[in-house]
Amino acid sequence: MLRPESYAAGSWIAPGEDARAINGPVTGKVIAMAGGKAPDAQAMLDWARNQGGPALRAMGFHDRARMIKALGSYIGERKEELYALNPLTGATRRDGAVDIEGGIGTLFVIASKGRREMPDGQVYIDGGVEQLSRDGSFLGQHICVPLQGVAVHINAFNFPVWGMLEKLAPTLLAGMPAIVKPATQTCYLTEACFRMIIDSGILPEGAVQLVVGGLGDMLDRLDAQDVVSFTGSADTALHLRSTPALMRNSVRFHAEQDSLNATILGPDAKAGTAEFDAFIKEAANEITTKAGQKCTAIRRIIVPADSIAEVSEALMARLSGIAIGDPADETTRMGALASAAQKADVLEKIAAIGAEARVLTGDPEATGANPEGAFLAPTLLQCDDPDAATSVHELEAFGPVSTLMPYRDLAHAARIANRGGGSLVASLVTADPQVARSVALESAAWHGRLYIVGGANAKAGTGHGAPMPHMVHGGPGRAGGGEELGGVRGALHYMQRTAIQGSPDVLSAITGQWVAGAAETKGPQHPFQRTFDEIEIGETLHTDSREVTLEDIEHFATFTGDTFYAHMDEAAAQANPFFPGRVAHGYLLLSFAAGLFVQPDPGPVLANTGLNGLSFQKPVSPGDSVRVRLTCARKTRRTDSYGEVAWNVTLYNQDAEQVAQYELLTMVSYTR
Ligand code: NDP
Repeated sequence: MLRPESYAAGSWIAPGEDARAINGPVTGKVIAMAGGKAPDAQAMLDWARNQGGPALRAMGFHDRARMIKALGSYIGERKEELYALNPLTGATRRDGAVDIEGGIGTLFVIASKGRREMPDGQVYIDGGVEQLSRDGSFLGQHICVPLQGVAVHINAFNFPVWGMLEKLAPTLLAGMPAIVKPATQTCYLTEACFRMIIDSGILPEGAVQLVVGGLGDMLDRLDAQDVVSFTGSADTALHLRSTPALMRNSVRFHAEQDSLNATILGPDAKAGTAEFDAFIKEAANEITTKAGQKCTAIRRIIVPADSIAEVSEALMARLSGIAIGDPADETTRMGALASAAQKADVLEKIAAIGAEARVLTGDPEATGANPEGAFLAPTLLQCDDPDAATSVHELEAFGPVSTLMPYRDLAHAARIANRGGGSLVASLVTADPQVARSVALESAAWHGRLYIVGGANAKAGTGHGAPMPHMVHGGPGRAGGGEELGGVRGALHYMQRTAIQGSPDVLSAITGQWVAGAAETKGPQHPFQRTFDEIEIGETLHTDSREVTLEDIEHFATFTGDTFYAHMDEAAAQANPFFPGRVAHGYLLLSFAAGLFVQPDPGPVLANTGLNGLSFQKPVSPGDSVRVRLTCARKTRRTDSYGEVAWNVTLYNQDAEQVAQYELLTMVSYTR
């Protein structure tokens, strides 16, 4: 008998006397006792706010990203312990991989995104500097900083591991502590993974806590710095988001709820094409993976009217070969639903949808491997008049159930897909990019994600139902209107965006990055002779100037082969609205700039790895001269031996006018 425990304010709490018995979906027998009296909500909130929050905020984005990566490795090394519990939820090992490997993979991706795309500091810079005064002495910059409260994560039963980790990764990267409340039905698997997190000792005290069972009055105690992230049914979301304290205190509430996801077969994807085969495979896969208990699963299959017979035949053939049974058995392709209650709910929804559609395959009476278990055959329905139907667009049968329906033309297909009232994902299988464009314009506004594949890339495709950590997961309307993941975007949901207005020095001090107009310092040596740690933000080199001659331009033109008329033909250059006559190549100026600022001796600077945001602002004519200002704008530790230094490089002419600007990236050693 499993007895999953809560983890509150640093202590494990065993199930109470009034704990709930959890019946396993495979045998119907009690497999766990969970919950009971809720832990002290205020003590948990205080622990998170006073211990976890300050500890996390004291770290920078990169420290937290490294911590998340370490967590991924730690759980990965122990994942077989999670696979051992996985069949108890009704899931096969293949289903479990989506949950377990998917969760671990999400930690790795979010950690890597954090290190590559967020600064090595405590303030995230959102967008560019805004010039708020003509003289450049008053600027604006949007920044994001972690909220100072706690994130309460309420998760659904279907992904006990991924559901927790996909919310934790962006929350921890942002710098917020979390209280995780898994769905009770599968909480023992979440608890096993959560216990690994605590045992690892990787996170600071108070960063994460777990509530097995009910939250008590926790939501009533949330305030403006807290966040609720919910996954589950639309009814529960509505109930919870209506909590007066949440509304009164404008507590952010992210919901990911019911979703009537659709897939569309492109008009070009006739039977016999690679697209048609890919479509059938994906639709069948979505119906059967996790026994259809995925928030992203395909509920509506929208196909050209003249292809519906071929699609139904091919799909029925594929579904008939699905082996249903004990998820622990290796030959089983589809396990059980999460519980008997879940099965009863799905059967009720099939009956309601069945009033406007006919069942093509799937006997609702069949009990499968064990009459006591929550097994259900894959069920395919066909609705011939999707315009008149309502239930099929409104009821989420959260099981291996999908409904086939015909469309007349692409606009009609998109309209049907949009009837879901807002979904997490819609997919389209086509080899024609114009079909994709037409569907995207008609329906992107209704779906959080559009997944478009053809025959040629179907294998490379990540799958209709797989939320990718790099991409936004969430959808408008019925899908909850929330957003999760999406790389760094996911972390921003746990941060406050603030507009900072002030002087260049103020902005530099707050962001830790030099902005034009802020104070410059001069180092004791050439900056290329300074190690990563010695170089200071704002450290500047002003070079000598160099004249650009006509011979230089002609030499560069013939040497490189770039004999564009603006450099070689005076009359043609003058006729061009941008140039006063022959001018220097932009690339010649860049090369001269390097010649002016480089210190050639071996030293800590290891390599030039790129240029960002290059702009040529004023033409340089023969006889003009150029000089360079090179300023250290920001530094990012990359490995154990070197980090990236970004330099603001500005070229001026003899009249002190800016002629070019860019950011130069160099890798600089920590040692000499
Ligand atoms: P619920 O909405 O019932 O539960 C979701 C989460 O909310 C669970 O952790 C649940 O905890 C918790 N919860 C429920 N009531 C409260 C409350 N009053 N206060 C605090 N927390 C609460 O969804 P289920 O997971 O049971 O799934 C039911 C249906 O939801 C499915 O059949 C499906 O239609 C839909 N669903 C949709 C998903 C999607 O993303 N599209 C994902 C999962 C489900 P507890 O388990 O302890 O009750």
